[in-house]
Amino acid sequence: MEKRISLLNSGSRYLSQAGIENSLQEAEIFLSHTLSCPRFELYLDNLEVQKTKQEHFWQLLNARMQGLPVQYLLGSTEFMGLEFSIRPGVFVPRPETEILLEEVLKLSAFSLQPSAKVLDIGTGCGNIAISLAKFRGNYSIFACDISETALKLAKVNSFEHKTAVSFVKSDLFSAFKKRELFSLIISNPPYIKTNTIYSLSREVQHEPKCALDGGADGLFYYRKIIKDATDYLKKGGLLALEIGDGQSVAVREILDQSGDFCNISIVKDYNNLDRVVVAHRKALNG
Ligand code: GLN
Repeated sequence: MEKRISLLNSGSRYLSQAGIENSLQEAEIFLSHTLSCPRFELYLDNLEVQKTKQEHFWQLLNARMQGLPVQYLLGSTEFMGLEFSIRPGVFVPRPETEILLEEVLKLSAFSLQPSAKVLDIGTGCGNIAISLAKFRGNYSIFACDISETALKLAKVNSFEHKTAVSFVKSDLFSAFKKRELFSLIISNPPYIKTNTIYSLSREVQHEPKCALDGGADGLFYYRKIIKDATDYLKKGGLLALEIGDGQSVAVREILDQSGDFCNISIVKDYNNLDRVVVAHRKALNG
């Protein structure tokens, strides 16, 4: 039987030959997942690894070599310090999206009622809506997605975190009544230009296209959400959107042109890239 450290080294070599960076780190992640033990423990006791566990470890490495995202293989990921179940067919939450949440949490302290009604558009695994529910327990939160697969998983995550988010199958606002009047509309919509998706990493190619594809110029969903938001957002309400690299000028222009929004601001991420746009619906007409 092979011991832990020798298995780690052969696994790491295998991944590295397949062009995977941080191969030792990934081998550690997969072995600790297989053995259900913390990573540091792998080195404390260089125990022998049972045959069935070894097989499971190599299965994970083989799938990883096909380019499957680590999160799909582990079945979970972390967002805002919370664990979310994740599976193929559902977008993998990104750390940048935490900037969107943090900005909203900051603004909400003075611009939203404690019992604000909120809508998260394109919820995916529910990470935005559920984190918001965890941090702002009195909000009444609705979250929609067009994908049944995503909604099913989001409901599981909401149950796991004991939150009371209402999940709705909807193509953007289609399932909601006009004048439903949310105080906050938040979204990380698909924003990749259709013809650049193929040039992104192998991992991204395994994610659902409908969660990535923002149309020919990547701005399709911003136009739609901003145009329709005034039918669903309270006067003075907050619109918070994640944006892609280089989209801030165009999205600000769409907001300006609508004439319905004020206090538009752009927030940068930790790489100094424009990542979030927030705006308030004008409180008065004109
Ligand atoms: N709301 C989810 C997230 O931000 C999913 C986003 C999407 O599918 N584009 O992680």
